Amino acid sequence: AGTLDVAWARRFVAEAAQVVAENRVALSELDRVIGDGDHGENMARGFAAVTAALEKAETATVGDVLKLVATTLMSTVGGAAGPLYGTAFLRAAKVSDAPAVDGQGVHSLLDAALEGVVARGKAQVGDKTMVDAWHPAVEAAAAAADAGGTPAAVLRAAADAAAVGAASTDELVALKGRASYLGERSVGHRDPGAASSVLLLDAAARAAGE
Ligand code: ADP
Ligand code: MG
Ligand code: MG
Repeated sequence: AGTLDVAWARRFVAEAAQVVAENRVALSELDRVIGDGDHGENMARGFAAVTAALEKAETATVGDVLKLVATTLMSTVGGAAGPLYGTAFLRAAKVSDAPAVDGQGVHSLLDAALEGVVARGKAQVGDKTMVDAWHPAVEAAAAAADAGGTPAAVLRAAADAAAVGAASTDELVALKGRASYLGERSVGHRDPGAASSVLLLDAAARAAGE
């Protein structure tokens, strides 16, 4: 269990599609309060399309799977989250072209994903976006990888830190995206993109066997 391969990437997509579908209403409910109420629909539509695309595709590496996720999400999710997640998965795909990914490789992949989100959306920590989940996730992944953690342990550390980060958005004023139109009225509500980021990272960890 020292490395992750293309079978892990496919299990991740299956787990992600399932958990996103299960949380479709809950994610849209979060978005209804501080956005336009479509985040769950957007994500469920995107991951259903990813599942369909993956069934027909030949994939040799983790990178092949993540690239298909990226292009499919970009063309089906729409809104803010489509290009953000699309860029994240595309950047992650570019650093995971080897047949197997170790603990340090998992950190590199998550770091690249975060860089993609930031390059695309220009949000900083504290702006009440998915960055508030991804930034602590990458920091925790770095620490776990440096400690010699397995890929599953690195992903578990990342997912757990993302959950804490997502919860921290409750008390923040939104400074980016639709929720920023509400200003102070966005306080007291969780950012939907941070919540969906936790679901994806948790799916990745579960697919790795932890
Ligand atoms: P839309 O707001 O276009 O309806 P979604 O509802 O699918 O798109 O996604 C909203 C989520 O996108 C937010 O909860 C937030 O996490 C994320 N988001 C929006 N703008 C940014 C940004 N500039 N940087 C990072 N994340 C962002
Ligand atoms: Mg929305
Ligand atoms: Mg929308």
